[in-house]
Amino acid sequence: MIERIAIVGAGESGTGAALLAKTKGLEVFVSDQGTIKEKYKNELQAHSIAFEEGQHTEEKILNATTIIKSPGIPDKADIIKKAKSKNIEIIDELEFAFRYLSGKIIAITGTNGKTTTTLLTFHLLKSAGLNVALAGNVGESLARKVAFENHDWYVVEVSSFQLDGIKTFRPHIGILLNITPDHLDRYEYQMQNYINSKFRLIQSMQNHDQFIYYFDDPIIKAEVERRKIVPDSLKVSLTNSDAQAHFDGRVMFFDLGHNLFSIAQQDTTLKGPHNLINTMASVAAVYSAGISMDSIKAGLKTFKNAPHRLESVATINGVEFVNDSKATNVDSVIYALGSYNGSLVWIAGGIDKGNDYKLIEDQVRKKVKVLVCLGKDNSKLFQAFEGVVRVICETQSMQEAVSLSLKVARPGDVVLLSPACASFDSFKNYEDRGDQFREAVLELKKEVEGIQNTEYRIIE
Ligand code: ADP
Repeated sequence: MIERIAIVGAGESGTGAALLAKTKGLEVFVSDQGTIKEKYKNELQAHSIAFEEGQHTEEKILNATTIIKSPGIPDKADIIKKAKSKNIEIIDELEFAFRYLSGKIIAITGTNGKTTTTLLTFHLLKSAGLNVALAGNVGESLARKVAFENHDWYVVEVSSFQLDGIKTFRPHIGILLNITPDHLDRYEYQMQNYINSKFRLIQSMQNHDQFIYYFDDPIIKAEVERRKIVPDSLKVSLTNSDAQAHFDGRVMFFDLGHNLFSIAQQDTTLKGPHNLINTMASVAAVYSAGISMDSIKAGLKTFKNAPHRLESVATINGVEFVNDSKATNVDSVIYALGSYNGSLVWIAGGIDKGNDYKLIEDQVRKKVKVLVCLGKDNSKLFQAFEGVVRVICETQSMQEAVSLSLKVARPGDVVLLSPACASFDSFKNYEDRGDQFREAVLELKKEVEGIQNTEYRIIE
C-alpha cells in the first residue's frame, strides 16, 4: 500500500514536507485553513502536488496514513483532535525529514539564542570546508533540504513546537542554550510541559552523541540531575571551571577530548555575555564534529550574525549606532546593556508585553545617559526611569530618534536601539523597525559626512 501523507499548514515546513513526500513517490495532499503564500502555491503547482486553502476537507485529510502538522498548529486544533481520535500518526516536518536523511545533525534549541548559535555553527563548519546545510526555523525547512540536496552535516534550529512532533529524530550533537518561561499558552501554562518539550531534543540520542548544555541555567541543571542522560554531556558555563567550556573571566576556556585551548572574545565578532555562551556551545559542537582549532579560530573572525541582534550599523563622529531591534523583552535588554561598558544613549519603547523594568534599573542607572522613548505610549518607561536616567525624551519618528541621539552623544558613546518592546504600534515587525533604524543612521551618516567634506569658500 502506498503511504498517503496529508500536510496541515503550508508554510515553509509544510511545503518542504510536501516536496520531500513527492520526491519520494508518496501520495500527498496539502491543506491550509488560511491563504497560502503565492511562492508556496507556485511550488506546489509546479510539482503537481494537490492542495487546498481556506478550509480543511476532512475526508481528504483523515484518510492519510501520516499527517505532518506545521509547528504553528496547536494540538487542540479541531482537525488534529479528530486525527488523533482516529489513531492517525501525527508528526512534525523534522521527524519526516529525518526518516529520509543520511548525514549527521547538529540541532540547536533554547528559549533565546537559537538563531545566532545555529548561524555560527553553520558558518564554522562551512568555512572549514565541510559539506553542510543550514535548516529549520532559520532559512529553509529541513525537509526541503533533504528533498533536493545531500549533505554530510545538517545544522538545524529547532523550536519547542517542532520538538513536540518528533519521535525518532536524533541529532548527533544537540545544544540546549537556556529555558525561560515562553509560549506557555501552548503548554497549558505548565512550565514543566515546556521543559519536557525542550528535553525531547535528547530523547533519541545515543551513547557517544554529544549533549551540550548551558550549566548555569537553573532549570536545565535541575532537569539534568533528575533525568538519566544517555549521550555524553558537555557543559558550558560563564562561572564554573568544572564545565568543559567555561569563561574564566578573561577568555573562553575549552577542555575538549583531552585538548585544552582558549579563545578571547575580542577574537570573535560577537559581543556580550550571552554570546559567550552561544560561542562556547558552537565551538564545542564543531570541535566534536572534527573541526580543527585553527579553523575554528579563523571562522570566528569572519562570522556575520543575522541583522537586528546587536548589529553595529555605523559610526558617526565617533558614536557607534547599534541595532538590537530583536530585543523585544527585558531579558534581551539585560544582555544588550551588559555588552557595553561606556555610556549609552538608549532608544526603547513600543508595545510592552508586561515588562518588569526593575530588573534593569541598576544597569540603566550606571550606563544610560539619555533615554529616547520611541513608542505610541511611553508612560511606563517614563515612570520606570524618571530619576534613574538624567534625560528622557520621546519621539514618534525613527529619523528624529536617530538624529536626536547623535546630538546628545559624545565621541565614544554608543547609541543602542534595544526596545524591550514589540514593534506593532509603529512598525510592521521588529525587522521593519531595525531596517528603518539602519536606514536613518546611514542617511544621517551621509548627511554629516557630506557636510564635513564640503569645502566652503567665503566670498567677501
Ligand atoms: P532566537 O532565535 O532563540 O530568538 P536569537 O539568536 O535570534 O535567538 O537572539 C534573540 C535575542 O535573544 C537577542 O537579541 C539576544 O538579546 C538574546 N540572546 C541571544 N543569545 C542568548 C542567550 N544565550 N541567552 C539569553 N539571551 C540570548
